[in-house]
Amino acid sequence: MQLLDGKLASQAIRDDLREKISGRKEAGRKIPHLAAILVGKDPASETYVASKVRNCGEIGMISTLIRLEEDVPQQELLDRIAALNGDPDVDGILVQLPLPPHISEQKIIDAIDPSKDVDGFHPENVGRMVLDLPSFVSATPAGILLLLRHYRIRTAGMHAVVIGRSHIVGRPISILLSRNGENGNATVTLCHSRTKDLAGICRQADLVVAAIGRPKFVTASMIKDGAVVIDVGINRVPDPSRKSGFALVGDVDFENVAPNCSYISPVRGGVGLMTIAALLTNPYQACSSRDGGGTGTTDGFTA
Ligand code: NAD
Repeated sequence: MQLLDGKLASQAIRDDLREKISGRKEAGRKIPHLAAILVGKDPASETYVASKVRNCGEIGMISTLIRLEEDVPQQELLDRIAALNGDPDVDGILVQLPLPPHISEQKIIDAIDPSKDVDGFHPENVGRMVLDLPSFVSATPAGILLLLRHYRIRTAGMHAVVIGRSHIVGRPISILLSRNGENGNATVTLCHSRTKDLAGICRQADLVVAAIGRPKFVTASMIKDGAVVIDVGINRVPDPSRKSGFALVGDVDFENVAPNCSYISPVRGGVGLMTIAALLTNPYQACSSRDGGGTGTTDGFTA
């Protein structure tokens, strides 16, 4: 069994980005700029946004964090997005989800200029991805593809079973794995909460992507020998032995599944780090496309 080390794989991507950004600086070209909007004070969202901002700084990318009160009117958020859309200095915009219930997430996503939609959630980007056209691809599925690519895992001809059909992970990765291109050409089965005999379907898989948010849902008896297992889940479970009072576990029962896999991603240092690496790639691409240095999309690593 080999561990899919997201730390190693993401470091290579960050080093590459840092070098490219420093090259742009030396050449007097624009430095990529990511604007993040955080509404309210949800602790998990605070942690995610802080990590994104810190990571931008580490590779020399500019970031602006816009904090808005929990009760901010939807129109004010839309106005902020319109201003960022029109600001030539801003290359990428992300609005941290979830948003408070009085705000329509879809309306907010729809308002972001697709050419700055570095989360890849805008319907235009999703549609372009489905049609195999250059597009921003959301960070977690893009990160999974980068991880597979780093370890030279060829998915062509594999039976890939994706568990979970969310718009941000399960559904896009199922589409990407089925596309005709690098890291694609798999035969994909997308499983969800209404799937019958999920365990039996999983047992046929050469590649399993688990993205459901259920601790240790995927057990050893569901995985065939030699399969590749990507654990996307991040679940907090009570653990009195820890100072924090909780432990993070994945959607996969790692200890029991790992011995029979060919490759498996850990919860810490796995897909999460790849997600951040992919998220940093998108604003860079957006920026370089504006001055003619790229496609302006993440298609380069997904097509
Ligand atoms: P979600 O809640 O939006 O979707 C969960 C999906 O799982 C749904 O489609 C549902 O049909 C399916 N599901 C739920 N219970 C099921 C069951 N018993 N059997 C089969 N399918 C079932 O979740 P999400 O946003 O896709 O996130 C999934 C997990 O991945 C969460 O733990 C989340 O924290 C984690 N996550 C990690 C990263 C990362 O960077 N590592 C990024 C995004 C999400």
